[in-house]
Amino acid sequence: MSQETEHIKCLIIGSGPAGYTAAIYASRADLKPVMYTGLLAGGQLTQTTEVENFPGYPEGIMGPEMMEDLRKQAERLGTEIRFGYASSVDFTSLPHKVVIDDVKTITADTVIIATGASAKWLGLDSEQKYSGFGVSACAVCDGFFFKGQDVAIVGAGDTAAEEATYLAKLARKVYMIVRRDEFRASKAMVHRVLNTPNIEILYNTETKEILGDGQSVTGVRVTNNQTNTDTDLDVTGFFVAIGHHPNTDIFKGWLNMDETGYIITRPGSTETNVEGVFCCGDAQDHIYRQAVTAAGTGCMAAIDAERYLAAKEHVVTA
Ligand code: NDP
Repeated sequence: MSQETEHIKCLIIGSGPAGYTAAIYASRADLKPVMYTGLLAGGQLTQTTEVENFPGYPEGIMGPEMMEDLRKQAERLGTEIRFGYASSVDFTSLPHKVVIDDVKTITADTVIIATGASAKWLGLDSEQKYSGFGVSACAVCDGFFFKGQDVAIVGAGDTAAEEATYLAKLARKVYMIVRRDEFRASKAMVHRVLNTPNIEILYNTETKEILGDGQSVTGVRVTNNQTNTDTDLDVTGFFVAIGHHPNTDIFKGWLNMDETGYIITRPGSTETNVEGVFCCGDAQDHIYRQAVTAAGTGCMAAIDAERYLAAKEHVVTA
């Protein structure tokens, strides 16, 4: 049960690139934002190693370091950053109510949701062990590190198909591990995969273990679920593309979402179906899912929040 209450003008939930960018803009617009970081402060990028595709870092930067820089920037400009997670919301009336850690109720004039998404993993110990050291859930982020090498990718949906063809342009060979005897991906995407000569599809195949030398990935042990035979693939990279889960469960029933839980925003804006509630980053984007696009929509959310408050003020005093 919630015990304490506090009023905030601009509440930001989530601390990935979207949340921090929203915080930077909201601070500079004098919205006095308060951010709750969520349980994984810094978001998905804290679980990666080098980020080479975020503009402005000519030598690349480690993901955790970049998130630390963003945190410092948001704090320097005036955002109050608190560790804690939003456990429930009530968007029935204004101001909006958000309960933090099941104990504290925040009332907020504006809420910026930047809770992100989490990649689904197979759940193998060896996958966790080599995460960031050959195991990745983002081909666009990490494919470049495997130029000219052999890699494997697991999954058979549109993401896996898209990422396999992306990897095929960089890697020498791509093994695609498909657990059934068919794809889930759309026909057009499957067609693209089938017409890429350096992709070898292994149907009815499941991943048993990621092999490594203690430092990085050296192979993948797969098993054919029809014949029960194991094969070791000599690869240095292993990409998991079995879907993402947007971190939006607490908003179910309040905000419009697609069937997989991504929050629907008005095209060209970050407005949700509830006034004063904005959404940015991966929680509303299943297509691009990049740090820089998340940051871009974080900026949009702060501007949308500022304009919303300014318009309300104008109506009251007019
Ligand atoms: P999906 O849920 O569509 O596909 C997940 C895939 O991973 C399935 O093939 C599934 O296998 C496989 N899988 C799940 N768990 C395991 C496991 N434990 N071991 C092995 N394989 C597993 O996720 P996507 O990320 O591909 O797509 C999400 C949504 O985004 C979809 O609606 C998709 O169409 C859309 N999208 C659209 C794109 C585009 O239009 N350009 C690009 C990317 C995504 P199985 O089939 O056997 O269940």
